Amino acid sequence: MDQRPFIGITPSQELDQSPTYKLNSLYAQAIVEAGGLPIILPVLQEKKLIEGLINGIKGLLLSGGVDVNPLLFKEEPHPKMGRIDPYRDFFELEALQIALAQGKPCLGICRGCQVINVALGGTIIQDIPAEKPGTLKHYQEAPYWHPTHTIQIEEDSLLEGILKGRKRTVNSFHHQGVKDLGRDLKGSAYAPDGIIEAIEHEKDLFIMGIQWHPEHLWQKEEASKALFQALVDRAKKG
Ligand code: MN
Repeated sequence: MDQRPFIGITPSQELDQSPTYKLNSLYAQAIVEAGGLPIILPVLQEKKLIEGLINGIKGLLLSGGVDVNPLLFKEEPHPKMGRIDPYRDFFELEALQIALAQGKPCLGICRGCQVINVALGGTIIQDIPAEKPGTLKHYQEAPYWHPTHTIQIEEDSLLEGILKGRKRTVNSFHHQGVKDLGRDLKGSAYAPDGIIEAIEHEKDLFIMGIQWHPEHLWQKEEASKALFQALVDRAKKG
């Protein structure tokens, strides 16, 4: 029972002359702190191999990163859309579908939240300031570890149970956001301007996306640590 569960973490990648995987090490440290064994997943492109990777882990952590290709949610690219990585899109969407089919828990952070939504047929706001004028500043220029805007958490959500409260202040580094929710997903936290800040699966699956960055906060606050703890605890149950 003391066995640490393998938690696969997806990295970003640089696709230049010397292709490189990149991951903020705070994600892996958070998983270690929570009692898991983090493992960085290579961005493979063959379904069979991706299935092999997911077979070997107990939980999946989709990290932050570049924008999701809008063609994947049947929209043309908005001029304010940022950089995309078609290889990472393919890998993460496959990985999530397999994890879902295997009933394995998944936590998606920032881009990861959007990947979960797109995987389940949802859509993305390609640029919040351009598409939703009047919204608050979601791409903060304050330090990473400094929370800048409030969120309201939905009553009786899985998230409320983890964070143990209905109001928090979070850091915010996103110019995109969840638009229409995917199948069986519900919004579990909202910014005061109505932007969705967290999503979760309606069924008894631990499939959760959050728009802020707890990897920069867990060393300072229990609630952010509790998110990684919830993923690892669920993974331990297998
Ligand atoms: Mn935000």
